[in-house]
Amino acid sequence: MNDSHDNRPFDVDLFVIGGGSGGVRAARIAAGYGARVKLAEEYRVGGTCVIRGCVPKKLMVYAGRFADEFADAAGFGWSVAEPRFDWSVLKARRDAEVARLEGIYDINLMRSGVEIVPQRAVIEDAHTVRVLGTGERVRARVILIAVGASPVKEPVIPGAELAITSNEVFELETRPERILVVGGGYIAVEFAGVFAALGSQTTLLHRGDRLLRGFDDEVRDALGTAYAERMDLRLGRTVQSLERRAGAIAARLDDGSEIVADQVLVATGRRPNVAGLGLDRVGIETDQVGAIPVDAYSRTTVASIYAVGDVTNRANLTPIAIREGHAFADTVFGNTPSCVDHRLIPTAVFSTPEIGVVGHNEDVARAIFGRIEVYKASFRPMKATLSGRQERVLMKVIVDCASDKVVGVHIVGHDAGEIIQAVGIAVTMGATKADFDRTIAVHPTASEELVTMR
Ligand code: NDP
Repeated sequence: MNDSHDNRPFDVDLFVIGGGSGGVRAARIAAGYGARVKLAEEYRVGGTCVIRGCVPKKLMVYAGRFADEFADAAGFGWSVAEPRFDWSVLKARRDAEVARLEGIYDINLMRSGVEIVPQRAVIEDAHTVRVLGTGERVRARVILIAVGASPVKEPVIPGAELAITSNEVFELETRPERILVVGGGYIAVEFAGVFAALGSQTTLLHRGDRLLRGFDDEVRDALGTAYAERMDLRLGRTVQSLERRAGAIAARLDDGSEIVADQVLVATGRRPNVAGLGLDRVGIETDQVGAIPVDAYSRTTVASIYAVGDVTNRANLTPIAIREGHAFADTVFGNTPSCVDHRLIPTAVFSTPEIGVVGHNEDVARAIFGRIEVYKASFRPMKATLSGRQERVLMKVIVDCASDKVVGVHIVGHDAGEIIQAVGIAVTMGATKADFDRTIAVHPTASEELVTMR
């Protein structure tokens, strides 16, 4: 619907729907350029990442990692009394930290001059947003949709309502003694790792023959080997039904077997939060997964409406949403057209062992570049010599033969996320294998392998 003949003045320059990573960044930067900005958030400012995603998840990953530290300490001469873990302490401290960060987000928005509307808002026309709680209509020169995505409980099976998603994990008052995690993506892998480390009897069930589709096959194999040691890993299986049984949940699998657990966590993907948003009123059509198509500048098919973050399903990662929100504000309010390069994205999976990746996996690199060289190291880290831990570290560097450029780095092992961030700078700059080779090793570290592979 086009209201270009409507000459009423605008109440604000920018109305942001959604107070997650992308929306908050866009609002603050736009306000910094002098724009009058309102931001509506129906739940808690901070969005998935701060409230029920990256941040509380990472705190739980840290909690789980102590289990390995306690176990490994003996090899270095420590005697540690039987460690005991108290879920309620972790939950309370984690929730307090999330609340603290939420407060900081609120304050930063207000200090930037952004007015927060703590309500759900929907689109009425190309320049009007309606605030549901108050019925207020706000006319905005530009509207930014940054509503994110939510977990879906797929497949739809009998009894699916008994399962929880990654949202409800953060509300659990007690640690499940037994948990079944369904899925093989980032979220399933990370939470299965957390629960196994915290002492829950954990089953990770995935329909595919390897975890983490899209990652390098050797990374997937390395994680599969490690996870099979750390939990009950069931590959190539699906859940047919869930039913309540004597205070627990019984899951029937496709091979007729059964798993009984106290909680079932379904982590089989997320979908954009577009329901009821009013996209139909302005003629914005979503794609087959419900995402809003946008151009390189995050503009939708309606000139005054933009979208950033998971609702656009480009690369569903917090740093990408932040970049997209920032680029949008620079473009629309800062007179500096900018778009985000989605081609090279360093990323980490906070499994234990951790995974860090930048660039292409081996198959994709071969398909793109033709002739590639693959350098690989698989080794027991130095710490394992005394701890006795058998887990291996995998490092893989993929080089395009024609240009000698490093086009992929893959790490499975301790601190892979930290390492890949630094390696990501080199790869983003276009480092060659010769650049890696002339870099002096830091000894003794695991990551020195990256510059000593010949
Ligand atoms: P993903 O899309 O990564 O994974 C979904 C998993 O569920 C896949 O293993 C998929 O299997 C499986 N699946 C999908 N549909 C079905 C079905 N009908 N029945 C059985 N299994 C099914 O989603 P996640 O929810 O794990 O994560 C969402 C996004 O969040 C990620 O893509 C990532 O971008 C982001 N994220 C990033 C994190 C990080 O950076 N560390 C942490 C957490 C999330 P198959 O492979 O066979 O399709």
